Amino acid sequence: MNKRCPICDGQLIDKEVSKTFKRYGQEFAYHNIKAEVCQNCGDRFLDGPTVTHIEREIREKVFEKAA
Ligand SMILES: [Zn+2]
Repeated sequence: MNKRCPICDGQLIDKEVSKTFKRYGQEFAYHNIKAEVCQNCGDRFLDGPTVTHIEREIREKVFEKAA
């Protein structure tokens, strides 16, 4: 397993990160999200399915509140 950053070609390491998603004019803070972090430029790459899951969860929260 030797993944490289698509931006700077630095080494990517698996890490859990925190990220705030801004959707529908609201902020949703998520912690312990699996991501790959570049050791060189510090860029974070979230796992595609994880992001899809979070986006869906946020949509559900927003529409539950509205209902
Ligand atoms: Zn990088």
